[in-house]
Amino acid sequence: MRQPLVAGNWKMNGSVGSVRELLAGIKAGIGDIDKCEVAVCPPYIFIPQAQTDLAGTPIPWGGQNLSTEASGAFTGEVAASMLLDFGCTYVIVGHSERRTLYGEDDALVAKKFAVARAAGLKPILCVGETLEEREKGVTEEVVARQLDAVIKLEGVGALADGVIAYEPVWAIGTGKTATPEQAQEVHAFIRKRIADQDAGVADNVRIQYGGSMKPDNAAELMAKADIDGGLIGGASLKAKDFLDICKAANDSV
Ligand code: PEP
Repeated sequence: MRQPLVAGNWKMNGSVGSVRELLAGIKAGIGDIDKCEVAVCPPYIFIPQAQTDLAGTPIPWGGQNLSTEASGAFTGEVAASMLLDFGCTYVIVGHSERRTLYGEDDALVAKKFAVARAAGLKPILCVGETLEEREKGVTEEVVARQLDAVIKLEGVGALADGVIAYEPVWAIGTGKTATPEQAQEVHAFIRKRIADQDAGVADNVRIQYGGSMKPDNAAELMAKADIDGGLIGGASLKAKDFLDICKAANDSV
């Protein structure tokens, strides 16, 4: 049985005050949620605050990105060891905003996955097609290519140390959610592709859905056999909405 993971990707949002309030709200409501793992990924600068405020809770935190380099003259970058130093468990790699806005390609994302894993962080590998790619009928090809880049570099067994997030780009921040059937189809494809190489890894790896997941659509998405939680953007910035999604994941177990 896979434990769902609901992780909040706060993107570049928040202030000292709003982060304090959001973390307090999540902490206050987490008591009822015992079957789903709940994590937050704040902007780098708020990670120390998450570490302080979440100490002693079951809520892990993580980064939204990391450098492939260990240290040195890389202005603006943050190393895996620094994330670990501040208690991070997770780190998102290959988010579509990084791929699109910052030109991260499959090879770089695979390298980030490898660096995170080698450091002992759990990478959350984001994959997903654009609207144009879906309309062209190449969704599976795109997702396979993104996944295979990691498998080629690290071997299929490496996926056991991370999490996969299927995030159709057309659904991120747009209010358009994939239907549960559309999402399940791609999740099943991903799991099958892994199973063809290692059935054990495929059975155990968690595949989150991400893309405009909200309290009112979470339960039907989580009910699908291959959807193991969610990577949540906009709705993770409001404690109540985020917790309602976590409860839906919790109830799906
Ligand atoms: C995301 O950024 O990973 C995401 C899923 O965003 P949203 O929930 O806002 O679509």
